[in-house]
Amino acid sequence: MVDLISQYAKIKDEIRVEFDRVLDSAAFINGPLVYEFQSALEAYLGVNHVIPCANGTDALQVIMMAHDFPIGSEVIVPSYTYVATVEVIALLGLKPVFVEVYPDTFNIDIEDLSSKISNKTVAIVPVHLYGQCANMEPLMELAKLNNLKVFEDTAQAIGADYTFRDGRIAKAGTIGDAGATSFFPAKNLGCYGDGGAIFTNDDVLAASIRMIVNHGQSKRYYHDSIGVNSRLDSLQAAVLKVKLKYLDQYSDARRDVANNYDKAFGESNLIEVPFRSEFSTHVFHQYTVKLSNSVDRKGLNTYLAQNGIPSMIYYPVPNHLQKAYGYFGYKKGDFPTTEDLCSKVISFPIHTEMSNEQQGVIINGVLEYFNR
Ligand SMILES: *Cc1c(COP(=O)(O)O)cnc(C)c1O
Repeated sequence: MVDLISQYAKIKDEIRVEFDRVLDSAAFINGPLVYEFQSALEAYLGVNHVIPCANGTDALQVIMMAHDFPIGSEVIVPSYTYVATVEVIALLGLKPVFVEVYPDTFNIDIEDLSSKISNKTVAIVPVHLYGQCANMEPLMELAKLNNLKVFEDTAQAIGADYTFRDGRIAKAGTIGDAGATSFFPAKNLGCYGDGGAIFTNDDVLAASIRMIVNHGQSKRYYHDSIGVNSRLDSLQAAVLKVKLKYLDQYSDARRDVANNYDKAFGESNLIEVPFRSEFSTHVFHQYTVKLSNSVDRKGLNTYLAQNGIPSMIYYPVPNHLQKAYGYFGYKKGDFPTTEDLCSKVISFPIHTEMSNEQQGVIINGVLEYFNR
């Protein structure tokens, strides 16, 4: 689905220079590279604080730990997302309250969200799924009105721009009280192992998060709160520092592929190409289409695989129907749009190094299956 080998080949020399700095200094943990990357990312995002951590799931968890919500508090989350978003809520003894998504953008439905706010609700976690921002302006208004925190899961949308009604533009993950991202290798800004980060403009929250990721330590061996060990190591920071310089270029490359797919599939009534919101750019973490009722998705997936073309289903089972979360009492039919998407979506390869020839093979493979 991605080609990290060809991408590495192009930046190998730069990466090796930064790796050598880490290896020669042996500053593997909290070394200078971590701070260099952190500052570079703060400047890129236009945010006051970036707090690196071990992965995107930790980033979400630590943000919630910093708020110390009472056990049983409700956190609103879209029903259609990667499980990590839901997992950390349940893990902290909070209650995930699912909200339906829009059938076009696949992002959190603001009207359904408004109907799910109760006197136990403490926070909303919008997910900028597949690389496009949820509709943050009405969501922030709703949050403000109800005194709720907003934590953006921007693991799939780093670099995407959200435009407010007045024309102001903000980077995904910098609009709410805090944002969480992942540097998993296949993400849009990926390292060569696990990594993650938290973004916030709130100085007090930033200080609290910095303490939590470091065992709740205020000064060495003084622990003010229960924390975790969640660090980005220096070698990963070295990779990210180099790759951040290319992030906008990488987003453009992904958009070019998406535009070519759109053109090739746009005419077909068997496939619905990704919707583009007017308020957000799309950085295409995934190129995910919705197949019409008449297409046998498993058949397409198998046919493509037989022709050497990977395709993936993100996500086959909605969170409200996952076994692990059965104890929250949701049932089939609770989120019809989400359930429909889970049965109809398929994602095709998209990455920063795709040749026209590769795109052609994939496009032809899909169209051939339709025309059989
Ligand atoms: C990848 C991802 C995460 C988790 O990130 P990890 O670094 O794998 O822990 C969380 N939310 C979403 C939407 C993701 O895609």
